[in-house]
Amino acid sequence: MTIKLRDEALLLATHRDWESFNMSGDSYQISKIFGENVFDITIAEGIDDDIRAEIIDISHSGKRLSEQHADVVAKAVTKWSMSRGVTHFCHWFQPMTGSTAEKHDSFLAFDKQGWPIDKLAAKELMQGEPDASSFPNGGARSTFEARGYTTWDISSPMFILEGSLGKTLCIPTAFVTYYGDALDIKTPLLRSISSLKKQMVTLLHLLGKKDVTDVTINLGVEQEYFLVDKSLYFARPDLVMTGRTLFGPLTAKNQQLDDHYFGPVSERVLAYMQELDYELYRLGIPSKTRHNEVAPGQFEIAPIFKDANIANDQNLLLMHVMNKLAVKHNFVVLLHEKPFAGINGSGKHMNWSITDSTGTNLLGPGPEPQSNQNFLLMIAITVKAVERHAEMIRMSVAGAGNDHRLGANEAPPSIMSVFLGDTLDKIYKAILDGREFKSDESVLLDFKAEQLVQLLQDNTDRNRTSPFAFTGNKFEVRAVGSSQSVGFPATILNMAVADIVSEVNDSIKDKLKLGKDIERIKSEVIRELLSSSYHVVFNGDGYSDSWVQEAKKRGLPNNKTTADALDVLTDSSKTKFLMRDQAFSESEIVAKYNVLIERYCTLREIEFHTLSTLVDQYVVPSAVNYKSKLLAILKDEKALNLSAGVEKEIHEKLNLNLRNIAQLRGKLTMGMEKKYKSSAEQALGIANDLMPLSEEIALECNSIESLVADSLWALPKYYDMLFVR
Ligand code: ADP
Ligand code: MG
Repeated sequence: MTIKLRDEALLLATHRDWESFNMSGDSYQISKIFGENVFDITIAEGIDDDIRAEIIDISHSGKRLSEQHADVVAKAVTKWSMSRGVTHFCHWFQPMTGSTAEKHDSFLAFDKQGWPIDKLAAKELMQGEPDASSFPNGGARSTFEARGYTTWDISSPMFILEGSLGKTLCIPTAFVTYYGDALDIKTPLLRSISSLKKQMVTLLHLLGKKDVTDVTINLGVEQEYFLVDKSLYFARPDLVMTGRTLFGPLTAKNQQLDDHYFGPVSERVLAYMQELDYELYRLGIPSKTRHNEVAPGQFEIAPIFKDANIANDQNLLLMHVMNKLAVKHNFVVLLHEKPFAGINGSGKHMNWSITDSTGTNLLGPGPEPQSNQNFLLMIAITVKAVERHAEMIRMSVAGAGNDHRLGANEAPPSIMSVFLGDTLDKIYKAILDGREFKSDESVLLDFKAEQLVQLLQDNTDRNRTSPFAFTGNKFEVRAVGSSQSVGFPATILNMAVADIVSEVNDSIKDKLKLGKDIERIKSEVIRELLSSSYHVVFNGDGYSDSWVQEAKKRGLPNNKTTADALDVLTDSSKTKFLMRDQAFSESEIVAKYNVLIERYCTLREIEFHTLSTLVDQYVVPSAVNYKSKLLAILKDEKALNLSAGVEKEIHEKLNLNLRNIAQLRGKLTMGMEKKYKSSAEQALGIANDLMPLSEEIALECNSIESLVADSLWALPKYYDMLFVR
């Protein structure tokens, strides 16, 4: 047996130079290149001011754009694109696969005389018709009516994607059926934003803020990822097929020393990060933070927050650019939630806040949070939203990959709770007890070193173990998986909050009718919200076993696997709030459920098949190969009348592992052939029976890998993938 691939991969990986990239000149100024590949309607040339104003208004208000105005934009964007060497355009959309899709068309058209011209027609800008039958639709449409429609999202800017031999203009679009049912993630997100906006503006008017005309929902998306050398990646079929290693013993040193987190970035990785930032700036993505993460080979990037719809688009675009550039640097980006068992997985922190049109952040506590009633109300509303819709929020981050991460002592558990921090917690406790809150004054941190500037202690301590944490002026949702689109969890959160805001609005109106004054009403509402939801607040260690017990006592749901978590979508009493303002229709919810559950089952099936193949074609043959070498020695020893030593022991251990693995492998095959009555049953069977079985197989593989001589092992090991770069 040859082990060529791993050897060659290692040789390649250890001899790489870091890639330098070609900027114009040696250095650049971010502000000069920022957004150069973005067509921003608000400033673009070739659009008259009155038309521009109308288009901007339409992008906020959802009114219809006339074909005439679309034509103005189409002409301007064609001119702009062509001056940059663009030859093609595409409708860029977000099918329910969770990633993006694009179908390219050239600018080629012919004029009346038959001469070739470059043109993007208004119709082409506004609408596309991809074949929808090959995208996940969950039964929302039947395949004989295979048309799906992409329709231009005016509120998200167009951008240019560069390939090595040409450029494409990308038009962000929504993807719907002929009847307008959503086939994507963007459409419900846009509807949820409108719904929450409407409720919020009503609330702010009731609270006396009559000058507010609109609110903005903001998202700041932190993205974690792993980098693995390209050659090693392709030598691990499980990484290629499933995004994660299906087995592999942990290296002795992994992340125990905490020496990777925020450590100096290696030159090769830094070159990647630098080129990534450069490309992101050109695409108008405000990349801000980059650093090493906790696990070896793990990193993070975070742009500055933006309007939720654009932030979601930009996060998807970011993942695309990350993938593309990594290959150029001879890396592959792993966005899977748990590429390597035993060390940290990757998440996506979704920072969420609301600002109103006067510029006030409604989650900003101000200097005196205890007397900032509007702030206290907004927090109480969000706490109540998480309490009431905990299962839905949990569902929104469900997925095969995230099942490995949530509750794995690095990521928050699958129990939804809210962290408020000390100060806020004390304020709310005082409100609930009907006491007056006494502030401890601003606490200054004493560094015991007078050279250092004094720092004002943050009101919110950092609690990394909470799935939903208040972090000073925003909520940070930490349960989102690294590969997931934030579009869906953001949609659910927006709708959950809209649900409570709408009730609060009704309650305030009723109380006003009774002649109460608004300040008193606010106090009453805050108290009412909290008294029915405070049990969802938890400021302790979310990783501890005692929290699991405590949460159970408090009656908080704990849906551990995707199979458990998705069930909530089949309960109409729990999904009803999604239909407010037609954010979802009943059939869209059914479709969503079908897509998610099928996706879960399919991903797991691919994993089981891949694992079986690896066992048959790599693990068992390596063990057998090693055994034959041991047997030869044993025979020699016997012939020479020498007593058999350690060879016999290893041989016996391998035999035991091989017997176990054959048996488990057989069980897995039988399990995979089992017929289930429904996808729900199949998902449960997979989560509860087949997953544990596959994990047992992984342990046997790990034992064999640990025993077999390294020179006979064909697959890259954790050592290779995590430390060689
Ligand atoms: P940390 O890792 O400490 O949580 P980072 O700076 O890495 O912090 O990321 C914080 C993210 O939160 C950034 O994307 C940032 O732009 C975003 N953010 C900051 N303020 C707000 C806000 N008011 N609303 C939404 N997102 C915010
Ligand atoms: Mg964070």
